[in-house]
Parts: sequence; C-alpha cells; structure tokens
Amino acid sequence: MITGIQIKNQVENVVSAKVTVWQRELAGAVRDPLLLMQALNLVGEGVSVEVVRQFRLLVPHSYMARMKPGDWNDPLLRQVLPLDDELQVVEGFNHDPVGDQPSLVADGVLHKYHGRVLLVTTGACAVHCRYCFRRHFPYSESNPVKGEWEGALAYIRANPDVREVILSGGDPLTLSDERLALFLGQLAAMPHITRVRFHTRLPVVLPSRIDAGFLQLLAGIRQQVVMVIHANHAQELAADDVQQALAALHSAGVTLLNQAVLLRGVNDSVQAQVDLSEGLFAQRVLPYYLHVLDRVAGAAHFEVPESEALPLLEGVRQRLPGFLVPKLVREVAGEKAKTPVV
Ligand SMILES: *Cc1c(COP(=O)(O)O)cnc(C)c1O
Ligand code: SF4
Repeated sequence: MITGIQIKNQVENVVSAKVTVWQRELAGAVRDPLLLMQALNLVGEGVSVEVVRQFRLLVPHSYMARMKPGDWNDPLLRQVLPLDDELQVVEGFNHDPVGDQPSLVADGVLHKYHGRVLLVTTGACAVHCRYCFRRHFPYSESNPVKGEWEGALAYIRANPDVREVILSGGDPLTLSDERLALFLGQLAAMPHITRVRFHTRLPVVLPSRIDAGFLQLLAGIRQQVVMVIHANHAQELAADDVQQALAALHSAGVTLLNQAVLLRGVNDSVQAQVDLSEGLFAQRVLPYYLHVLDRVAGAAHFEVPESEALPLLEGVRQRLPGFLVPKLVREVAGEKAKTPVV
C-alpha cells in the first residue's frame, strides 16, 4: 500500500531535478476558496462555488501575502474573489468582446494592428483575474506553442512589415525558459523584428519568476525588450519581492510599462490611480494604458462607465506630471488601434 507520505516523496523526487522555485510556488498556489478565506480570516458567504466551477480560483502565496486580512474589500482580493455577481447575464457582455477570433492568422497569432503581431502563447496564468477578457478564449484550439511554434514563426518570417512581436496569453511567463528560448532563438535570426514585448502579470503576482535563468534568457535577446506588467493597484507593488524583480528587469535593460484596467471596487478613484502611477514610477515603470473594462460575460460588476472614467482621469491629470498619466483607452472590435476614450 502506498501512503500519502510516500506519494509526496515520490513526486518530489521526480520534480526536484528540474523544477525551479517559481514553478514550485505556482504549483503550490491557492486554488481552494476555503483556504483563501481561512488564510485571510474572512468570515461569511462571499465565495460562489458555482462560479469557481466555471473559472477556477488561482492565487499565488506571494500575492495573497499583500492582501489585508479580514477585509472583503481589499483591492487585491477583489480581483481574484469569485462572486455570485459573475453569474449575472448582462446585455452587451459576451464571450469575445474584443473581436479576437476574426484576427487569428495562424495558430494563436493575432494580427490586428500594423507592424505588431500578438501571440496567445498559452492559456495558463499564475493568477485568475475575475475581470479577464480572455476567460472564454478557446485556448486549446489555438496554441502557437503546439509544434514548437512553427506556425507562428512561419507567419512572422513571411511578413517583413511586422517589427514587433508581442508575447501574450494567458501569461507567457508561465512558459518555461526552455520553451521561451526555443521561440526567441528563432526570432533573433529575423532581421525585421526589432522589438519583443511581453505582456505579463508575473513580476507582480509571482515575482520569483524573474530569476537568474530568466535574466540570462533576456540577456541573449538581440532585440529591444519591452515588458508591460499588469498592475492595477499600488498595494500590488508594495512588497520586497516585487520590487526586487522590477529592479532586476530594469537593470537588464528592459523598458518597463504598465497597463491597468479601471475596475469598480479596485482602483476607481483619483487617489488610487495617483498612488498607482507614483508606485509604478518609484519602481521605474511608466504608466501606459488604462483600459476601460472589456465587456466580457461575467465581469459586468467591475464596469466603470466612460462618463465616470473621463472625469476620474481628468482628476489624475490635475495631480501628476503628464508622463505619469496613462492613456485611457477602449478596445473596439475591428479598429486598427486601441481607441482613446474622450
Ligand atoms: C492590444 C493589442 C496590441 C498592442 O497594441 P499597442 O497599442 O501597441 O499596445 C497588438 N495586437 C493586439 C491583437 C492587441 O489586442
Ligand atoms: S490573462 Fe491576464 S488578466 Fe487574464 S487571468 Fe491571466 S493574468 Fe489575469
């Protein structure tokens, strides 16, 4: 008979050879709503079981450690907490709000905008954000990693007017260094590609991902590297491990930008936005976009209407230098760029 302890030892023996610290932390992330509630001393009936079945809970310990115990309204908790509100059917909120599907040109490759292609590299993330516009994306049907990136690489190679390759997801940094190296190595041989951009939340939610191996990988990239971290609240940045990760990226010559989503109950005040911009710049990250919510089914309760978003941003503009004011944009299906909200 195999006991639980033996199984655990066997698993650890198998993994200890290659698994990195961040992979282990990701494997140990909180998936059980009851554990989350216990760890944060939350009492009451806030979590919806039906909702978790549709879109799992996932929170790394490092991220959870920045939440305030006992506070249902904590801005980090709100981003990951499965609520019954997600079951509401609201007109105008659907499954492909940004019109991704018609822009698929190869396995997981989206070519919507001039000079840039976006790769949906994986469906995996290190955190599940309840407002996510890709929560219904058919990842398993469309995945460029399949077949060692051949389809994506062939498309990029055949399109010399593409200058920038954007790795998105899911979260591209959930892929191993080996997988990323396979792709980036091939990209290095394409002279028309001048920039590589990562859109990732891992420096914020799983900062151990920015380890020596990843920094070494970055050092080998011939192109300029841009990393857009997706922080929504200053409290997400107020941790030593996050600050060390961002400092390491900065030292590695990575241009750091931030893209946030304006979220009801998370960052929908002038003060929260000012604090976010200040907190970002203190870590050498420039605010880039502030998105109004993509109207994805299940996220209606996060929406801040444009009529409220505009005066909010005006308030931010009156408080900060221009370079710390993000561009307020909306994603409109079929448009050739993000659409400014004015
Ligand atoms: C958002 C997005 C981009 C990048 O747009 P930028 O304005 O360059 O940040 C590129 N491709 C797709 C499909 C996008 O959705
Ligand atoms: S794709 Fe981004 S926003 Fe969506 S769940 Fe993953 S990390 Fe969160």
